[in-house]
Amino acid sequence: MGFWDKINNFKNQLDAVESNIYTTRRDFMEVYEKNIQLEAEIKERTAELEVANRRLVTVQHIWEMMNSSQPLANVLDSIVNSLQGELGYLFSCIIQKKIDNKGAYLEILADSKCDFADDITSIIGRSLYDVRLNWFQDDDIEYHILNNKIYQSRDIYDAMNIVFMDLPEKSVSKICNTTSLSSYLLIPLKSNGLHFGSLIVLSERPEATETELNFLKLFSKQIELAITIANLFQTVKSQAITDGLTGLNNRRYFEEEAQKEVLRSQRQGQKFTVIGLDLDHLKQINDKFGHSCGDIAIKSVAEVLKTNARSIDTAARMGGEEFNLLLPGVEHKGGLVAAERIRKAIADVNIDVIGHITASIGVATFGEHSDNLNELMELTDQAMYSSKKNGRNRVTLANPEELESWQDIAISSFVEILKNKKMPIDKSVSEHMNKMLDKLSLDHDALYTVSDMLSALYNPNHRKGSAKNKIIAANSLAKRFELSKEDTDKLKVAILLYDIGNMMLPKEILQKRTPLTDEETNIIKTHPIIAAKEILKPISIVQDIIPIIEHHHENWDGTGYPDNRSGQNIPLCSQMVLIIDAYFALIEPRPYRKAKTKEEAIQIIRDNIDIKWNSKIAEEFISILANDVEV
Ligand code: GH3
Ligand code: MG
Repeated sequence: MGFWDKINNFKNQLDAVESNIYTTRRDFMEVYEKNIQLEAEIKERTAELEVANRRLVTVQHIWEMMNSSQPLANVLDSIVNSLQGELGYLFSCIIQKKIDNKGAYLEILADSKCDFADDITSIIGRSLYDVRLNWFQDDDIEYHILNNKIYQSRDIYDAMNIVFMDLPEKSVSKICNTTSLSSYLLIPLKSNGLHFGSLIVLSERPEATETELNFLKLFSKQIELAITIANLFQTVKSQAITDGLTGLNNRRYFEEEAQKEVLRSQRQGQKFTVIGLDLDHLKQINDKFGHSCGDIAIKSVAEVLKTNARSIDTAARMGGEEFNLLLPGVEHKGGLVAAERIRKAIADVNIDVIGHITASIGVATFGEHSDNLNELMELTDQAMYSSKKNGRNRVTLANPEELESWQDIAISSFVEILKNKKMPIDKSVSEHMNKMLDKLSLDHDALYTVSDMLSALYNPNHRKGSAKNKIIAANSLAKRFELSKEDTDKLKVAILLYDIGNMMLPKEILQKRTPLTDEETNIIKTHPIIAAKEILKPISIVQDIIPIIEHHHENWDGTGYPDNRSGQNIPLCSQMVLIIDAYFALIEPRPYRKAKTKEEAIQIIRDNIDIKWNSKIAEEFISILANDVEV
């Protein structure tokens, strides 16, 4: 190889090395650059994760607040403020569209406490809550609300000009110019499937990013949940003492107040009067004009009671079309005057479509007619009945001499039952119950308590409070069927005694978890009635109640027991006991099944029309469950 060849060869080798180095360097550079890119990406992802994390914390915060049963306004306030901090908006608020005689306007339900809000306040010289904010007159916004879509706009000036229409233009331009405001978003909110209002955010950014929009959507769902939950809390809270239809106090509240008055009366000797009122012929109003007109009649009575009640009085809807007014410190004379004024005020109301309505009223005074609350309520009821009997639209004062108390009969029966040596009741339990019955004039619910305790002895699943609720249901049912006072009293005593025979049943059968054998079923079917008859036979005052109890398991279609009676051959009171017993048994658990809900129990009652009972009694009972009984 010549010199030049060698040189050339060497050069080629050099070239190869150089190109090799070059490629490797390029590879290195590529890796290096990729690394830098990756690092940047990691940084970005970390930042995103951080944001996502923060947002989750925000959502969690809202969730916790929603569960704290705070009033809706507080919850919404806290939500807009957390959003504000989260996405760095200038201002956020939740608004509702309202309409009055001047047109549509915008009501702020909650707003973020921030510099922007302070700026506006100082520009307009008033708080945002003190100026009329007009509703956006914009079809596009309406379209977005209607379709539940987020609306974005940069037309700040236009929007501000409409919303602040009542402000001088100078102030509006100042608001727009002094801030870095460049766009706003409106996110429609729903509650219970209906449009509730909107979340508005004012942003310094001209356009929201995709992720921002996604977050706002998620956020609005949280607000919607918060609204639903807060409303629910509110409803539950107010339902506890208020009647939904009329806004008056409910039965529970009335009874609590009446108890307080009894205590006051016992301490200070102060009398009080109860006015009991029942709307006349509501059924006819319902039949003639429809149920919603019946509701209007009920509301009209409520309004009269509200306007006629003093602040210390308690006006309550006891259920259906029955109202009570408690007048502390009022004796019977004053009670009669108040009752007459109320009667007249009701008769004077002229309701659209319906015309005039009337009510029958009874008046009784604690400390004059009775010193026992149950008895007083009974006397009020009885006086109200006299008003009905004597032509309605009138006031009647209680007459204690007429009182033939079903409670007295029930108490005497319980005392006799507890004396009966055959009853499998522990001595200490029976002594305790006897003491309670002794003190009945002091503790007005003792009769129900004793009845509940007796039931619990053979039925551990017996719900406390059932006895009272059954009596309320029985009373309403008796009214619907226009039972005489005498029959109503018998029905009530029967309600407290009909299952007493179960005391004699073997516990193994009562608590059995597996289906019963035929023999056991027969024992269950016949024994309690025989036992009840046996237990009640020696008690003279309940002799005319025994037939009601004896037939309370006869079915309308003749498939019941003990006599396979059918239809109208079954005493009406027995039919009533059957349906009341069935319902209250259904809503209790049994060893072999869960408790039914009210709705399920009602469905079962419907399914058994013409089998166990007829449709009239079933429909009346279901309507009572809807209106009168809190179970
Ligand atoms: P009376 O003058 O003897 O009191 O006759 P009435 O029709 O008012 O009384 P009854 O006790 O026979 O019937 C009460 C009716 O009231 C039957 C029931 O459907 C209806 N009712 C009960 N609660 C409501 C309610 O909340 N709204 C409406 N519209 N009707 C009700
Ligand atoms: Mg009525």
